[in-house]
Amino acid sequence: MEPERCIACGLCAVYAPTIFDYDEEGIVLFAQDPSAHQQFIQKNQKEQVLSAYKKCPTRAILLEN
Ligand code: SF4
Repeated sequence: MEPERCIACGLCAVYAPTIFDYDEEGIVLFAQDPSAHQQFIQKNQKEQVLSAYKKCPTRAILLEN
């Protein structure tokens, strides 16, 4: 993810609440590891993350295979 692109819209945690969370300013971070900029996604979380990725208005969420 690229938190510097995040506009704190709050959508990603609606679609993937176990993956995304926010700092006190509403900027995205990983729920499990707030200081990380990358995270390995389990198979059973892929759909959620894909939805969040598609909905993010600023492309702050990036996917890599
Ligand atoms: S959907 Fe994108 S812009 Fe909105 S809070 Fe999440 S990362 Fe930030």
